[in-house]
Amino acid sequence: MIDIHSHILHGLDDGAKDLSGSIEMAKQAVAEGITAVIATPHHRHPSYTNDKQSILKGVHELSAELKRQNIALDIYPGQEIRLFGEMADVLDHNEELLTLNNSEYVLVEFPSSNIPKYTEQLFYDLLVKGYTPIIAHPERNAEIAENTDKLYRLIKNGALSQVTAASVAGLFGKKTQKLSLDLLEHNQAHFVASDAHNITNRGCVWKQAMDKLNKKLGSDMVSLIDMQAQDVLNGRSMKILAPERIQQRKRLFGIV
Ligand code: FE
Repeated sequence: MIDIHSHILHGLDDGAKDLSGSIEMAKQAVAEGITAVIATPHHRHPSYTNDKQSILKGVHELSAELKRQNIALDIYPGQEIRLFGEMADVLDHNEELLTLNNSEYVLVEFPSSNIPKYTEQLFYDLLVKGYTPIIAHPERNAEIAENTDKLYRLIKNGALSQVTAASVAGLFGKKTQKLSLDLLEHNQAHFVASDAHNITNRGCVWKQAMDKLNKKLGSDMVSLIDMQAQDVLNGRSMKILAPERIQQRKRLFGIV
């Protein structure tokens, strides 16, 4: 299977610390059934800046080392871009930003607490220019968790989203797990990815996530998310199932 979101490159962000950390993560990914990883270091993040060239260099170096060590994992370039208002223009004059393996798909990260006000306009601009935003881990955004209609609107207008394998596996708690499965079931999430940072507390828990997915939503869902990740890697456009709204329990006087 293909992992479209990973902090496997070392020394760039809060992912792998050194080359041996990257190799450990690669071995874990292979053991979990992953064959290809799109490396997505943070960019325009409050703490991390990693432009195109530094990421391409990292992918090149890690690929060479994996080959040398006979580890069967392909690494492709990408970036996890913190949302900023001029993203569509900057992507067009592209010396700074990377899409996922040079496809039309861009992995975008919201702040964890909210959805920036300009998001709808920015997504519209991206889509008009031929880019498709993929929202990283919407299940961990407080505004979306509070009201999934906010995500539904963005998806209905053409954005895609990716939930984290650890969320599906339940490692971020029952509530986040339920939300992740709800988003997948209602076609508001289209990918599962590891968002791995290391092999311990933020590892690649792929098998556990797929087991859960299989049990809760069936093998067709597992196949669908696999197929869609392949489409991203290969730069193919995809036919997305229409999103459905999620009925959330109404809050009564602020109490759930
Ligand atoms: Fe990430």
